[in-house]
Amino acid sequence: MGEFDLIARYFSQAGAKRADTQLGIGDDGAVLQVRDGYDLVITTDTMVCGTHFFADVDPRALGHKLVAVNVSDLAAMGAEPAWLSLALTLPEVNEDWLAEFAAGLHETADYYHCQLIGGDTTRGPLSLTMIAKGLVPHGKAITRSGAKVGDYIYVTGTLGDAALGLKLVQGQHQVSKKHQGHLLQRFHYPSARVALGQALRNLASSAMDISDGLAGDLPHILRRSGVGAFIDVNRIPMSQALKDSCDQAEALQLALSGGEDYELLFTVPESRRGALDVLLSPYGVPVTCIGRITGASGKLELKAGEQAISYQHTGFVHF
Ligand SMILES: [Mg+2]
Repeated sequence: MGEFDLIARYFSQAGAKRADTQLGIGDDGAVLQVRDGYDLVITTDTMVCGTHFFADVDPRALGHKLVAVNVSDLAAMGAEPAWLSLALTLPEVNEDWLAEFAAGLHETADYYHCQLIGGDTTRGPLSLTMIAKGLVPHGKAITRSGAKVGDYIYVTGTLGDAALGLKLVQGQHQVSKKHQGHLLQRFHYPSARVALGQALRNLASSAMDISDGLAGDLPHILRRSGVGAFIDVNRIPMSQALKDSCDQAEALQLALSGGEDYELLFTVPESRRGALDVLLSPYGVPVTCIGRITGASGKLELKAGEQAISYQHTGFVHF
């Protein structure tokens, strides 16, 4: 068996099969059946060793994270995850590493009811590219361009945990033992807010997922929607682990600029705020209003209560 047949073996032993996959791995292309009345949503994410993860990362966690960050983009569009393809560049074939990576990938794909339907393998510096495909009822995808003046700005969950988890991994921050598990989990095993994203289809005017930090990501919505915004930093939701481990300024810095939380950031018109409270309560994910869309085009203002504050954001920039 050649080395690439070996790789194929790890990735073709797929878990959950979907009825709408007419043809999966093994041919020149996959054949997928898009449900009547639905649109196909496609997103791509690349993770490069040394840039997005460390060479000694647990391969199982890496397999999980690759799927979760792609599925998170589908969640932000209000889409239901369906199919994944993988382009894998490996410096060598290490069977133990591959088995763990594939296990993490399949586990998480199954969890989100996604099927791996193809991919490609090449030799080179370690790099992982995934393409995720999802389904959304025709015309119902939530974009970044629909925010209107007066809309309220919300986030799911808590912000800053993954960034503190990264500092913990790098040995740059002391954290009490009782909080370490939570922070490492948030960094290595992010959750994609899939059910909540679908629930937002008829509620949110715009949405995105937070991958590069709130202060770096919200301006994407502002630019695409042609609006401005203010955020009350006192309202940004933070976990007890973050609050116990950092002083106020550092906690705020991580919550605003730390990446990889994969929470949803979305805007809701005033007329739908009541419906939002009712419809989202069964999901068990906290949703917090942190600010409002304003008319001043493109500008993001930060306030602490009523007081304006200045802030030099250092959101994660890829280039
Ligand atoms: Mg995104």
